[in-house]
Amino acid sequence: MSRCRSAVAMSEQVAGEWCVGREVKAGVREREREKMERMRSERYRRQLILFGEEGQKRLRSAKIFVAGAGGLGSASLLYLTAAGIGRIRIADCDTVEESNLNRQILHFHEDIGKQKVISAKEKLERLNPEVDIEILAESITEENVDTIVGDSELIVDAMDNFQARYALNKCAIRKKIPLFHGAVYGFEGQITTIIPERTACLRCIFPKAPSGAGETPVVGATCGVVASIQVSEVLKYLLRRGSLLENRMLWWDGLNARIEEISLRRNPKCEDCGGGDEGV
Ligand SMILES: [Zn+2]
Repeated sequence: MSRCRSAVAMSEQVAGEWCVGREVKAGVREREREKMERMRSERYRRQLILFGEEGQKRLRSAKIFVAGAGGLGSASLLYLTAAGIGRIRIADCDTVEESNLNRQILHFHEDIGKQKVISAKEKLERLNPEVDIEILAESITEENVDTIVGDSELIVDAMDNFQARYALNKCAIRKKIPLFHGAVYGFEGQITTIIPERTACLRCIFPKAPSGAGETPVVGATCGVVASIQVSEVLKYLLRRGSLLENRMLWWDGLNARIEEISLRRNPKCEDCGGGDEGV
């Protein structure tokens, strides 16, 4: 009997300790949550003024894909990470070379020889540890693009070749997710936002890949201009604010400091999106 009583007493003591342990853990979690909320309200203060907690939550719940961690990718990844996007997946199969460093600002001198996605992840996690950075050291092809993009809800085109861009374009059409296109050449750049079934797709705009002989000249600052506009478009899309570059191409002429706008129209005979007659 006394043994039974002591067993009951023991079990009550264990249960009591377990309850206390659970309360302590709940308290720790609550303090961590409060700390995180304080960090967020401070870190995002200047953008919370614009779109509030609700908007910030939308960014935090977003899963996006950035194709390329080169010139355009470096600048867009920095701004997307700083803005507090929840999950960013990056694909790039290249390693950092000395000749990249005039424009690919995510990579530093000591990164030469390192996989670009690893170099990118290291920097982005230091910038904002809250953002989940997923990396794939793979080149984008017609065969693997759907898997690489996965469950991402939008694609940022930060590529340097049309073969990969066409694969991204088809993937965006299949998954019915937007493709934020950007490209640079020297002091010039172009940006448009492709919304499947609503706007001209990349193939409607460029039925054939633009021909370019030799190495593409690029000024780093041009990547900054183009990527910044792409990121503005992404944020507007996620926040449902403003008007997007739908059926419009912005053309940045950095040498003369001019921006032109070109109207786009879906091609009814487009081999990728099948076109339509509701274009602008
Ligand atoms: Zn099309």
